[in-house]
Amino acid sequence: MKHKIRPGLAGIIGYPLDHSLSPFIHNHSFAALKLPYVFVKIEVPAAKLKRTMQALSDLGFVGANVTMPHKESIINLVDWLSPEALAVGAVNTLAWRGEKIKGYNTDIEGFARSLEKFSGWKRFESAAIFGAGGAAAAVAYALFHRFAVRHFYFICRNWRKAEKSLAKKNIFSDKVWVNFVDWANPDAAVASSDIIINATPVGMDGKRSFPITPAAFNQKQVAYDLIYSSTTTPFLRVAKKGGAKTLGGLEMLLEQAAISFKLWTGREMPLAKVRGELKRSGFRPR
Ligand code: NAP
Repeated sequence: MKHKIRPGLAGIIGYPLDHSLSPFIHNHSFAALKLPYVFVKIEVPAAKLKRTMQALSDLGFVGANVTMPHKESIINLVDWLSPEALAVGAVNTLAWRGEKIKGYNTDIEGFARSLEKFSGWKRFESAAIFGAGGAAAAVAYALFHRFAVRHFYFICRNWRKAEKSLAKKNIFSDKVWVNFVDWANPDAAVASSDIIINATPVGMDGKRSFPITPAAFNQKQVAYDLIYSSTTTPFLRVAKKGGAKTLGGLEMLLEQAAISFKLWTGREMPLAKVRGELKRSGFRPR
């Protein structure tokens, strides 16, 4: 008996979306598995988000990724939230189930999978995170729940704002030691951490310098930049100079996409193939 495969619509909701790699990743995965799905960019400003969500439901969308600036505000427009999305207060994946819209945060698991595959480590004691936005919260959640981290430094340009924003979230379910560090003086916090993460867009253009010195790093540390457009960001350049093992954000991007893909299609994303296609297409992390 032949199985009937229903065609599916999926997309990414954000504003702006010029540089998104998600359409490439998902459309190549659909094609590789011969699935009759299409993934489109849905560029929508905040004022039109509610209306757009209704339109996507009416059109029969099966799923969507959500990116800046809607990851937090979209929470009010879904019918169900995963425990992780609820804890960090951010949704990056939607899945339509009948009339209902479910909201997930696949950044958390995407980060955890990429880190585990890369480092093979299951535990870290301390972490220094540059930034305190949505990605920083997802990373902190993964480090606490999956890698047993109990000492956190958040390195921010406005630590009062960061403290206030993180206090509203339920990232940690047990006692942790959290310290807020000024952006201009991060070396001592970095030197005391097993893993150091850049969860800010600083360095995305490849030019800007990072306020840190190689002497703050050592060979036992892992330095992870969530920026995925380059493997030689200013942050990673300094960390490498200091001897740390370095990792760029492309693997997290692929892993979080693979989790969304499975939620929508029930199938595993052909990760190796997509990674190869990305490189062949001319997208080469610098
Ligand atoms: P977000 O919620 O807007 O948070 C950005 C954070 O960076 C905030 O703490 C912000 O501080 C800080 N920041 C921005 N510009 C800064 C500057 N010039 N100097 C110092 N701090 C600065 O954004 P997000 O969603 O967390 O994303 C952060 C980064 O992670 C982006 O580069 C994004 O592309 C990347 N990301 C990658 C993946 C992946 O799959 N690889 C997934 C998610 C995100 P203020 O609050 O003071 O503005």
